[in-house]
Amino acid sequence: MEQISLPSCSVPVLADVDICVAGGSCTGVFAAVTAARRGARVAIVEPQNRFGGAASASQVCYWHSLSNLDNSLRIIEGLTLEVLERLERRDAVAYAPVANPDWYALLNTEELAIDLDELVKETGVLPFLHARAVDVLRDGEGRLNGVVTAGKGGLGVIRAKFLVDATGDGDLCAAAGVEMWRNAELQPPTTCGKFSRWPKIRMPEELGQMIHAAAKRYALPEGVVWGTFTPHSSTFMLAATKIPDSDISEGAALTAAEIEGRRQLRAIQDLIADAGFPRPVLESLPSLIGGRETKHIRSLYRLRTDDLLSGRSFPDVAARGTYRVDVHSQNPPGTRFLYLDGTEYFMSPYLPMEKRRWRAPGLPTPEYYEIPLRSLIPAGFDNLIAAGRMIDAESGAFGAARVMVNLNQTGEAAGETAFRALDTGRTIPEVAAADNGNDSGPQSGRMKCTE
Ligand SMILES: Cc1cc2nc3c(=O)[nH]c(=O)nc-3n(C[C@H](O)[C@H](O)[C@H](O)COP(=O)(O)OP(=O)(O)OC[C@H]3O[C@@H](n4cnc5c(N)ncnc54)[C@H](O)[C@@H]3O)c2cc1C
Repeated sequence: MEQISLPSCSVPVLADVDICVAGGSCTGVFAAVTAARRGARVAIVEPQNRFGGAASASQVCYWHSLSNLDNSLRIIEGLTLEVLERLERRDAVAYAPVANPDWYALLNTEELAIDLDELVKETGVLPFLHARAVDVLRDGEGRLNGVVTAGKGGLGVIRAKFLVDATGDGDLCAAAGVEMWRNAELQPPTTCGKFSRWPKIRMPEELGQMIHAAAKRYALPEGVVWGTFTPHSSTFMLAATKIPDSDISEGAALTAAEIEGRRQLRAIQDLIADAGFPRPVLESLPSLIGGRETKHIRSLYRLRTDDLLSGRSFPDVAARGTYRVDVHSQNPPGTRFLYLDGTEYFMSPYLPMEKRRWRAPGLPTPEYYEIPLRSLIPAGFDNLIAAGRMIDAESGAFGAARVMVNLNQTGEAAGETAFRALDTGRTIPEVAAADNGNDSGPQSGRMKCTE
């Protein structure tokens, strides 16, 4: 692409804080709130008009199990549990009647956005909405010392001692010069939509088969479809569009995907109406296409699928989970699930379900898996940490780690780690090294990449 230089300009310092978090999904808010509750001065920057990320701006509404595999032990608590309790007070969450891998809690994501406002306000986090992190600021020695934002009013700077990248795509890490990489097949982004007058169509089978039969006519890519009613409401949220091979961390691809996703939503309405059902009424579009996967950071440790499926434990554990490996693919269209208990399913929109075992019977089944803190720490950086879907994980490991109950914990871990580094005068890698029993003190230098 042709490049030009902009004239240098002076910009206002919007805030001077200890920690600046870029990205305000639950991941980013939980990072900010965790650090603020520990006593840090924290700012958070979010381009949407609300917090919640994929959950609020993209309408994604399920949280998965907070317990170990046999449901005998709660393994996820913290802010995830606290937010569920807040939603309960507003009748804004419904729980699965029986434990199952598909979902645990169904959220009213509009109410979630207001709960996140309240959390930010109560903890004194300084919020910047309608503002995007576009670059990092460096001191004379090249050390990161702030975030450049583009918001209402133009460019501005938030000075900070530690930076947390919770942008999903790793925008802040990329701007800082972290090495970014992509898995061979990216999981596709999806435009969700909310409807009234949703017809009685069996989900997902019947809609999947209707799309299969008419895929060419309506130019609809095939793959798994799902949808659900909002708790205590007749509004139906549909997740059935998909944009294959799209890296929406890049501006042109993001623009094209937003427009194509909305076209697909309309095509699905047309298809349903042409099949003789009443036309579903489109009530609301997301303000942001839902991103499943874009770029990942090169960190101190790349999480392997085998680590996850074998339940490998890490001394620097940042998050625990049980959600299955869930990889959406286009070739063939469908989703492959690998469960911790050793079973494997391939779910296609139109073929009979394939079932096999990926682990020989009789071998031990882990109760849960762990995500290490080192997978959140960009290699070669002292005061930058990532949380969310850009973490360093192979395709299969990422397929499980990517759900919100897991990424929420990476946010809390990033906020806590940034606070501990601030509080003890260490670098972020030194805090992780201390957790790994490799504590050689504040001046020990950078940790080696162990990938
Ligand atoms: C259709 C669909 C269905 C899914 N279903 C489920 C499900 O049922 N349950 C589940 O748990 N997970 C589900 N997932 C996965 C899950 O939603 C995501 O993996 C998860 O939400 C990612 O969280 P995140 O915080 O990393 O990123 P995001 O939720 O994408 O949040 C990133 C935030 O950063 C902001 N941002 C972006 N760029 C910048 C920037 N430069 N500066 C500042 N801020 C920035 C964005 O506006 C956004 O608020 C689904 C995903 C999709 C797309």
